[in-house]
Amino acid sequence: MENCIFCKIIKGEIPAAKVYESDKFLAFLDISPCNKGHTLIIPKEHYVSLNEIPNEDGKEFGELQIKLAKSVMEATNAGGFNLLLNDGKVAGQEVMHAHLHIQPRFNTDEFSYKWTHTKYEEGEIQKFQDKIKEFLQ
Ligand code: 5GP
Ligand code: ZN
Repeated sequence: MENCIFCKIIKGEIPAAKVYESDKFLAFLDISPCNKGHTLIIPKEHYVSLNEIPNEDGKEFGELQIKLAKSVMEATNAGGFNLLLNDGKVAGQEVMHAHLHIQPRFNTDEFSYKWTHTKYEEGEIQKFQDKIKEFLQ
């Protein structure tokens, strides 16, 4: 993708502080981090959404999340971390090349995730349960 900033990083056309690279995935530091050590994992294919990542690449992607979250925690002495994936404009995705954020967290940091809570009507939770299970098959 010609104008994709992450594709340019993959091709080496713009610099990035890379921490992991394989045939399928790349991880590098976010240029404008929420906390220092904030890392992004991206597929090397230009997929816009997580949903486009093929099943067979899921194992490496999953294992990489676990390994990198641990490494980021150890490297930054963080007390915890958030994994965040903004998928779609409506969800706050700004760079339209799928990416997972690993955000180290500290007692002293000044950001938080706040969302409003909604409620299920009587019997509604089961409908959602059944529908999600149906689509999983
Ligand atoms: P989004 O809001 O799409 O989930 O997050 C995009 C992230 O990409 C942001 O946290 C932003 O700081 C990061 N980012 C945008 N452009 C660049 C860049 O050129 N290099 C790096 N390393 N990170 C970038
Ligand atoms: Zn791209």
